[in-house]
Amino acid sequence: LSAALWSDELGLKTLLLEENAELGGQLLRTYNAIENHLGTQAKNGRELRDIFVKQIEDRSFTIKLSSAVSEVDLENKTILQTSGERFSARALILATGVRRRKLNIEGEEKFKNKGIIESGKRDQDSVRGKNAAVVGGGDAAFENALILAKRAKSVVLIHRQKDFRARAEFIEQTKNNPKIKILTDSVVQKFIGGEHLETVKIKNSQTNKTQVFPFEAVLIRIGVEPNTELFRGQIDLDENGYIKIDQTCETSVKEIFAVGDVANPLAPTVSSAVGMGAAAAKIIFSKLIS
Ligand SMILES: Cc1cc2nc3c(=O)[nH]c(=O)nc-3n(C[C@H](O)[C@H](O)[C@H](O)COP(=O)(O)OP(=O)(O)OC[C@H]3O[C@@H](n4cnc5c(N)ncnc54)[C@H](O)[C@@H]3O)c2cc1C
Repeated sequence: LSAALWSDELGLKTLLLEENAELGGQLLRTYNAIENHLGTQAKNGRELRDIFVKQIEDRSFTIKLSSAVSEVDLENKTILQTSGERFSARALILATGVRRRKLNIEGEEKFKNKGIIESGKRDQDSVRGKNAAVVGGGDAAFENALILAKRAKSVVLIHRQKDFRARAEFIEQTKNNPKIKILTDSVVQKFIGGEHLETVKIKNSQTNKTQVFPFEAVLIRIGVEPNTELFRGQIDLDENGYIKIDQTCETSVKEIFAVGDVANPLAPTVSSAVGMGAAAAKIIFSKLIS
């Protein structure tokens, strides 16, 4: 949105393609308050998204929703949509963001919203009095375990390694919470149940023993991965699949830029995405007129 706003501001003919039916990306699934984006505060991601969308309402650039890009030819700057429509441009800005990493195990899809919850903040009331679990070992896993512990009967934090990536303050609070138990060296293998999730099969990677635990609610927080499958083989990606860019946000292909989380694994924030979008648009403008 920021890249499109700035491109429009600079008089460039601009097209924004979004695969979802509404704008907002990750903000649509952010249920915590956002108080760290300078200039405005919002009680959740949707509220911030609404402020952004309101600001671009009167702009003249074209927005196409429900418009997934299914193929790109970056060398020729051509885009093909799932609808079959084809577009070409003088310059492209890739801002496809990231998605939550999945465990890719049996039962994960089946019990989505039937025991496998989406957000600790949003779904905390649904775990009241239940045995819950959080899978992961980073900040998000610990933060959510602490949130769920306020309502759940018990919370088990399941991590496949011995060490954690989370901030020391979260680890400390979690260890001191009598409702939370931590299982390390533990790999979730299968979600089991009838209509609703009932148990979870977990293997201890040290002893190779498997055990079945009665969890009625599970939250998976094992990180994110970039949406870069479309670009693979056409531009340089890092070892985790994020787009490599230079200090002007340009990729390894001339006049193809990448902004936001998809090109910013170390500091993914709203502010950096907004800033990178503005920078890319300004660089493109100066290149096109020179
Ligand atoms: C729970 C949570 C809490 C957060 N809290 C904060 C916070 O407090 N402060 C903060 O600064 N940041 C926070 N963030 C991070 C922030 O949301 C992201 O940094 C920001 O949304 C990145 O924006 P983006 O445009 O790069 O990517 P995204 O928001 O991921 O948007 C990418 C967009 O590209 C679209 N897309 C992907 N592939 C295609 C395709 N093939 N065709 C068409 N469209 C496509 C997607 O549908 C999506 O709308 C939080 C994130 C989460 C998940």
